[in-house]
Amino acid sequence: MARLRKPTATFLVGAAFFGSTTVLSTSPAFAVCYTPGVATSFNVNFEGSYLGSSYWADAVSYAINQWNATRSQGTGVFIYRNESERYNTIRMESYADNWYGLYNGNGITFSAKLNIRTIGPAATDDRRWVTSTSSHEFGHALRMGDNPSTIYNSIMKHSRNRDVVYGPAGYDIGEVKRCN
Ligand SMILES: [Zn+2]
Repeated sequence: MARLRKPTATFLVGAAFFGSTTVLSTSPAFAVCYTPGVATSFNVNFEGSYLGSSYWADAVSYAINQWNATRSQGTGVFIYRNESERYNTIRMESYADNWYGLYNGNGITFSAKLNIRTIGPAATDDRRWVTSTSSHEFGHALRMGDNPSTIYNSIMKHSRNRDVVYGPAGYDIGEVKRCN
């Protein structure tokens, strides 16, 4: 497992960040690498009846395919859907919670959840939102945390437009390389 690197700049958040006149420094404010993440290469099993249907499973596979395509940019990402995988899982259900997606990991294995109850009514394109949410949860497995303080698009921002940002952005590719 790769050594986790410490952030090289202070993590600035909130109004003070945007109101400051010294924002445009030469050192960007990197997010802290996420220790419950797993690796750049892992199997994942699709679980539950929703992801037993190709309608939804294809939306998750699209998230995987987009991450795997970043290998050409040196990320080393290799995510493989494997029905024999016992630990790393992604599951879609109707959960009585307000989140769209949830990641639980311990640095070695993870389980991710997708909430059709919240995604369905909120989404303009429900499968695209499932792709965006899946891609975000895989981003956690790839050692990225939530809400990086970057001005650039990121799949890890909760404020992202899920119709537009539904795969890894350039910033995210750099972060996966930095954090692994
Ligand atoms: Zn998250």
